[in-house]
Amino acid sequence: MALIDTVLDDEPLSSAETDALRARWEGVRTQIADACVRAKRDPETVDLVAVSKRHSVAAIRAAHALGQRCFGENYVQELEAKASALADLPDIRWRFIGHLQRNKAKVLAPLGVSVDGIDSLRSAAALARRAEAADRVVEVLLQVNVAGEAQKSGVAPTDLAELVAAVRAQPALDLRGLMMIPPAGDAEAARPHFRRLRELADAHGLPVCSMGMSGDLEVAVEEGATMVRIGTAIFGPRPA
Ligand SMILES: *Cc1c(COP(=O)(O)O)cnc(C)c1O
Repeated sequence: MALIDTVLDDEPLSSAETDALRARWEGVRTQIADACVRAKRDPETVDLVAVSKRHSVAAIRAAHALGQRCFGENYVQELEAKASALADLPDIRWRFIGHLQRNKAKVLAPLGVSVDGIDSLRSAAALARRAEAADRVVEVLLQVNVAGEAQKSGVAPTDLAELVAAVRAQPALDLRGLMMIPPAGDAEAARPHFRRLRELADAHGLPVCSMGMSGDLEVAVEEGATMVRIGTAIFGPRPA
């Protein structure tokens, strides 16, 4: 079966699967709350994005039934298909958390989703043009390549000010903050990179810091994440 057919499976989860999902989801929420206690932060200031890529529509529906509202996807076609299959859930919200290819801005802009992977003047301009054409204001985060990794997308910290100014000049884009993926390594190794993103966001007056995934969310919350993107720890391993 093609990926898109597999992910569109809407056959309800078994009760055992639902119980396992609930236990994992509640566990993640407890981890966030505990990290907030350590950091003396209000847990209400940390948004949980459930990263549902490669997981089924049925799994998303089950997570929604638990109370999860915001879901993240990183393939445009998969997000579009799932949003359409789940259009009966009026309060569901979607974030595109992948690298935005300019030719995909046309598909994303009318969907009313937030776009978290803007990392160049050209992709910002393409998204702004499509948002205007769709008569939408699109919420965006800028992806920053904090550690300067050659293979990773994201704007270099030294080029961030220029990109922030360009996005702020676009009325069809609502710049909310920054996002990052730290270099591979353990959670403690990510700490200085998380701290750096928080500093960059503060320096530009941006409230949102999207950082922290299944393996390092507690460190990210301690360093000021206002949004964590959690896949595996909520849904289990991703289907191949
Ligand atoms: C897949 C993905 C995640 C979630 O990763 P997990 O380790 O499964 O929590 C978070 N952010 C981005 C950008 C991703 O692509």
